[in-house]
Amino acid sequence: AKNLGRGRIVTFDSALEQRRRDDMMMEQYLRKTLETEGIEVFYQPLVRTIDQTICGVEALARWSSSPLGRVPPDVFIPIAEKAGLIDMLGLQVLRKAIQATTAWPDVGVCVNVSPVQLQDNGFAHEVEAILTEAGIDPGRLTLEITEGVLISHPEQALKAITALKGLGVGVALDDFGTGFASIGMLRRFAFDRVKVDKSLVAALDTEQDAAAVLQATIALARAMGISVTVEGVETELQAGAASLYGCDVMQGYLYSKPMSEAEMMERYFTKWKS
Ligand code: C2E
Ligand code: CA
Ligand code: CA
Ligand code: CA
Repeated sequence: AKNLGRGRIVTFDSALEQRRRDDMMMEQYLRKTLETEGIEVFYQPLVRTIDQTICGVEALARWSSSPLGRVPPDVFIPIAEKAGLIDMLGLQVLRKAIQATTAWPDVGVCVNVSPVQLQDNGFAHEVEAILTEAGIDPGRLTLEITEGVLISHPEQALKAITALKGLGVGVALDDFGTGFASIGMLRRFAFDRVKVDKSLVAALDTEQDAAAVLQATIALARAMGISVTVEGVETELQAGAASLYGCDVMQGYLYSKPMSEAEMMERYFTKWKS
């Protein structure tokens, strides 16, 4: 029994060790990619519920490196956060997304912001510098924030959000409906939009009360005058429900997957380009 116990501990230890080595290797590759401005940005259309025309895009970071291949953001974003690389990554995505937007007609662009970035006092200044350099109307940019930082660092988050709103930038609460974000928080932080998490939409297919939950979530935000985007819309049935319950904007594979800047241009904006 003693031997077995020790064996288990050794196995557990080495699995942890292996994991740490993998993370360190990924961190090194990620650092290299960032230094060469090699993070790519894909764009997913946001469509107006009323007429299904495109009103904006969400910018989503993409990373592939030759030894590792394509690494999903759910994997590399947490690594960047732990390694102190997320500020650099986030600004690189923002810069590229703003640059792309300058070449497009009057659509908005949504960019994800890590909670770690919001804790940096200089963040709003960096955003301002990027907007000024591109000469773009700040109102075209919306920054998407998840609720974690509102709970863990409310004062810091309020300061950052107030500064961003002062620039004329929009602020959205991302992944709404999955955690503890309350009515009080929607008010206090004065969000311009909420993005209803895709799990609430996916639940329509499997859970009995899902329709009522989605309806109430949308109604709550709308009652506070906040624009509602529903994400993860994959089927006509889901789109029908979201639209019936009054969401303003929809996003999901039903309309389009995220795509490269070139593809975005070709599929949506060629007619506009003169
Ligand atoms: P998110 O901000 O909630 O982004 C939406 C995710 O849902 C994206 O995954 C998108 O590709 C995916 N999606 C869109 N439509 C559908 C659909 O109809 N069905 C399903 N099942 N999924 C759909 P992606 O691109 O893999 O990104 C995952 C997460 O990584 C993002 O979730 C966001 O939290 C994070 N992320 C991505 N880019 C950045 C970035 O530049 N900065 C930061 N801080 N986080 C980012
Ligand atoms: Ca998002
Ligand atoms: Ca989301
Ligand atoms: Ca998310």
